[in-house]
Amino acid sequence: MKEIFLCKYGELALKGLNKSQFEGALVKEIKRRIARFGSFDVRRAQSTIYVEPLQSLDCGDEVFDELRKIFGIATVCRAAETEKNMDSIIEVVKSYVPPLLSGKRTFRANAKRADKRFPLKSPEIAAQVGGAILDAMKGKIGVSMDFPEATVTVEIREEHAYVHADAVRGAGGMPIGTAGKAMLLLSGGIDSPVAGYMMAKRGAKVEAVHFESFPYTSDAAKEKVLELARLMSDYCGTLRVCCISVTEIQERLRDTVQEEYFTLLLRRCMMRLAARVAKARGCDALITGESLGQVASQTMLAMGVTDPAADMLVFRPCIGMDKEEIIDIARKINTFETSILPYEDCCTVFTPRHPKTRPELSRVIAEEEKAQLSALEDEAFEKMEVFYKSYFED
Ligand code: ATP
Ligand code: MG
Repeated sequence: MKEIFLCKYGELALKGLNKSQFEGALVKEIKRRIARFGSFDVRRAQSTIYVEPLQSLDCGDEVFDELRKIFGIATVCRAAETEKNMDSIIEVVKSYVPPLLSGKRTFRANAKRADKRFPLKSPEIAAQVGGAILDAMKGKIGVSMDFPEATVTVEIREEHAYVHADAVRGAGGMPIGTAGKAMLLLSGGIDSPVAGYMMAKRGAKVEAVHFESFPYTSDAAKEKVLELARLMSDYCGTLRVCCISVTEIQERLRDTVQEEYFTLLLRRCMMRLAARVAKARGCDALITGESLGQVASQTMLAMGVTDPAADMLVFRPCIGMDKEEIIDIARKINTFETSILPYEDCCTVFTPRHPKTRPELSRVIAEEEKAQLSALEDEAFEKMEVFYKSYFED
């Protein structure tokens, strides 16, 4: 038996983008993401993308799960292809449908006959298919015509017939890359992977920059961040990560500026360096995992003084979310368990006892001048390490 996958996108998602650009990006992303499972014909017709294996496929579940993580796909439906005669159709229904209905209490069978030459009419096909399912599932399920928990559909098309259950929800959003490229400031925490996911969902191609502070932060802390990037790539596509050491910058700040300004100045420096990497990589914006009021450096006034250092658009998709809401998404995308592993972050090195909560930009800049950071920032930028193909396959 041959199984194919039908991916639909919501028409609403097309607002602001032309359809062929959207479909083209989506087809390309689907091909790239499922290539490891075998060769497929991926084609579009009537607002549906057909994904058809070109060889027999013993990993249908994996392909289905992968398709459900691709942004731009609103629903995914798996269907068995059969020959156009009732014997073949019934045989396929009996083997293919029961696992799809497991856990459901009621179903209804449906038939669509695009090929009007087929000898049976739709209600007769549906009746035979319904009977076959009841037989095969031996009383574990009943029929409900009005409020079924699942619908099984047989479609008689020109070349073949197809058997499928309901479509399930896909990842939604827009195909990656249709909304430009952005640079995520990726820490080892819970929030920044979620922030990257949310922007990728809206079609941004995300790259990441991570700041480390070796030996104050360990290699294990860096590995954790690379693992987060790897986990994120399930949804966001391959994530290029670059690591920049801010050890000397932090030491300089510690030695030259008033302690209460330390965190703000470090954050300004991170924004400046991130923007520099972003521009070098052709990104149009930065992304952070900040959430209003979560910590002292995430007050409006604090963000008001760190933002100008970036000199670039900054997205903070978690800004209005509670920690619980962020955690729910982190769990869904499978980053939560890694994020809560207890490793240090450079932001927690030399943390002031009383950080400035009502900073003034002019005062902050005056303090920053004392540290004379620009040569150290140039050096940090030059020494940046890039993790890409060695960690993730493109
Ligand atoms: P997260 O859970 O994402 O670590 P957080 O609540 O711990 O966030 P902060 O440590 O104040 O908050 O960091 C705020 C944001 O600054 C992070 O979401 C991230 O975007 C960025 N950031 C913090 N530390 C780093 C780092 N070491 N490298 C890159 N970006 C960082
Ligand atoms: Mg953090």
